[in-house]
Amino acid sequence: MRCDEAIMGAQAPEFDALTRLVEDARTIAVCAHTSPDGDALGSELALVELIERTWPGKGVFALLADDDVVPRIYQFLPGAERLVRAVDFHEDPDLFVCVDLSHPDRLNQARAVLERSRGVAVLDHHPAGERFWNAGVVRPDAAAAGVIVAEYALHLGARITPTMAQSLLCALVTDTGRFQYQNANGEAFRVASALVDAGASPSDVALHVYQSDRLSYLHLSATVMGRITTFEQGRIAYSYATTADLEANAVPVAECDGLVDIVRRVDGCEVALFLKEVPGGKVRGNLRAKSDRDISVVAREMGGGGHPAAAGFTVEGDIDQALAVVLPKLRALYSDAEGAR
Ligand code: 5GP
Ligand code: MN
Repeated sequence: MRCDEAIMGAQAPEFDALTRLVEDARTIAVCAHTSPDGDALGSELALVELIERTWPGKGVFALLADDDVVPRIYQFLPGAERLVRAVDFHEDPDLFVCVDLSHPDRLNQARAVLERSRGVAVLDHHPAGERFWNAGVVRPDAAAAGVIVAEYALHLGARITPTMAQSLLCALVTDTGRFQYQNANGEAFRVASALVDAGASPSDVALHVYQSDRLSYLHLSATVMGRITTFEQGRIAYSYATTADLEANAVPVAECDGLVDIVRRVDGCEVALFLKEVPGGKVRGNLRAKSDRDISVVAREMGGGGHPAAAGFTVEGDIDQALAVVLPKLRALYSDAEGAR
């Protein structure tokens, strides 16, 4: 595979440090962020397989940060059945590897496992906070954490098996919105191409992730679509789903990740917001930017975080209360930036 030599060279010392941690460990727990998406789960499962094949005999565990099931659309991922909830995991691992996350707050219940681990490593592409790991690569210009896991396999000279390739392709396809978002760079396509050569099936990923919606989910989508509202001359668009909407359509909260993509479809909209009520009297927000406006600023002000073009947050309250706080912040994004542009 042709790879990005400058990137690979820069990552090499941290990859080697990760290798030393793995070699010194007997038990290794790998975990991704709370509310896991395709990149989180795909990267985690591929890394678990990579470690097991490269260092046979180690105890390698794939953890789920939440006390919840694997989202339905990702249950097809090879090895998904071996994911263990952190609350059900009682060992003190020698090494804890975070993938697709570099902020301990996003570990939810797995944070306790991290805290009783001897060493910590991170493979991620989110803008990181304070370094809490002993070894790791955190590169926000990587389209997905899966890109970095694939590059770690290349660095090791390991074979990427068809099952690893399938998991990693799912990671790339979902985090780039099927290669439609601004993060879909040449590196993402090169890695994806290598994954297909290694046995990944784009049509199979698409079938499970994008062509297996339950009818009730599509009906909920219709409600969300019917409610899209725009302001700031159509540049900001938002919609939402209440607990009552989810219940009426019998759609679990975990299945609503794609709804923000409906909002972003509006012509001329630069910033898309989707809100949903989640258990515990909270609202979860997904923010997306179609222009170079950095919406992660707003997500951070709301107590969340993420990338400039894709970020999220969770706040206490109902939809009305969340809208009352977040809409003025989105508007301010325009009034503040307008003079500067
Ligand atoms: P999503 O809207 O799909 O949940 O998240 C979009 C991006 O923002 C993802 O990369 C996700 O990891 C990040 N993100 C979402 N919510 C939070 C949050 O509460 N805190 C931080 N630090 N990042 C978040
Ligand atoms: Mn990711």
